[in-house]
Amino acid sequence: MDDMTMSAGMDTSAWMDVALQRAEESLRKGEVPVGCLFVYNNEAIATGNNTVNETCNATRHAEINCIDQVLRFCREKQLDHETVFQDLDVIVTVEPCIMCVSALLQLCVRSIVYGCANDRFGGCRSVLEIPSLYEPKTTIQGDVKADEAMKLLKDFYKGSNPNAPESKVNKKGRKAKETVVLTENQKTSRMASYARSHILAGSSPRSRTSAGNRRRPRTCPGPAVELGQEEKIKGRII
Ligand SMILES: [Zn+2]
Repeated sequence: MDDMTMSAGMDTSAWMDVALQRAEESLRKGEVPVGCLFVYNNEAIATGNNTVNETCNATRHAEINCIDQVLRFCREKQLDHETVFQDLDVIVTVEPCIMCVSALLQLCVRSIVYGCANDRFGGCRSVLEIPSLYEPKTTIQGDVKADEAMKLLKDFYKGSNPNAPESKVNKKGRKAKETVVLTENQKTSRMASYARSHILAGSSPRSRTSAGNRRRPRTCPGPAVELGQEEKIKGRII
């Protein structure tokens, strides 16, 4: 869809600055930094950011949180929400995802202005062109202060999201590391146990080895029986 101009009298750049501040707040809280404003009669009646991590709910995107705020606003002011949404401008720092843009178009918002493109989930044009499914009256404009919005996303993904599912690659790496640590611990434990037994016996491990060999002939029945059992067990398993 071609970019179109915003509604008359609206300072898009100034509103986007406010949305970017919301995105920064979101970043500080450990959420994906997306800020959003719903502007009605030149007033922000809803401001939101992602609360996916806070709520453990993957649908709590900034736009969905703002939609809920508008519905509350309409109930309190006894306004018809359908009429309000039709006169409402959405300012959001990142291209809305497929879910959000679909919701906004079904609510027939007047316009959507977004900052940077969303190459993974964008529903305006990047991944799927949802507007082509609705023939909406909604105007859509992207690339407003895109660099600033993208910088916040990069800052977020440079850090680590504690609530993001661990990738399979990382899991494999972590498991391998744990195995190594465990093996080292086992080795240390065995060495300590070995040394302790020899200290208690009043001899060094080296002298004990030679002494042990002298005291215990190779034909000692103990180990021979144990080895035989082990072989039998192995045979059964195979
Ligand atoms: Zn979304």
